[in-house]
Amino acid sequence: MVSLFGALPGEATAPPHDDCEYEARKLAQARAQAVAFLQDHGAALWPGACSSTGSFDFETLVDLQNRSGVARLDAQYVRANVGPCERYTTATAGSLRHRLAPGDSGYRGFYVAGDWTAQATGTGSVEGAVLSGRAAARALLSAASLGR
Ligand SMILES: Cc1cc2nc3c(=O)[nH]c(=O)nc-3n(C[C@H](O)[C@H](O)[C@H](O)COP(=O)(O)OP(=O)(O)OC[C@H]3O[C@@H](n4cnc5c(N)ncnc54)[C@H](O)[C@@H]3O)c2cc1C
Repeated sequence: MVSLFGALPGEATAPPHDDCEYEARKLAQARAQAVAFLQDHGAALWPGACSSTGSFDFETLVDLQNRSGVARLDAQYVRANVGPCERYTTATAGSLRHRLAPGDSGYRGFYVAGDWTAQATGTGSVEGAVLSGRAAARALLSAASLGR
């Protein structure tokens, strides 16, 4: 399983409230970015997903409908966070328990850092980001010393 995150270029001004197509357009933009990223870097990052021509092999993506090529991306979860609440680290009631811990993401060899992780302040703050980075670094060093 792979999670890819990236910055989604926005517009200088917010869309008008009656622009009902905005979310769909941004989702299409996120999908296009994902395709471009996989085409440009996928084969180098995941040699097992490299086609005979040296490019990323979209056939390696899971698709229960068994589409072909780039269309297999439609079976992946692609999301564009465009709402104001989605674009900043929030700390709504009951949400903190769902955050990934820097040293315990649930996946071996996968460490996360940032104000959005499980860290002592629980808010979007520089202090939280620093605490998170330190916790991730400690976990990495500990895993390295144990040879994991
Ligand atoms: C307007 C505003 C005011 C704030 N004021 C305060 C304050 O007074 N005090 C305080 O403590 N906190 C404040 N904060 C919060 C603070 O800025 C954040 O909590 C902190 O910057 C989070 O750090 P981070 O490293 O987790 O994420 P970020 O600082 O967001 O760093 C993430 C970095 O990753 C880069 N990036 C994203 N995608 C990719 C990619 N695909 N490839 C490569 N790079 C990528 C981004 O460009 C960015 O540089 C404020 C935030 C805002 C928006």
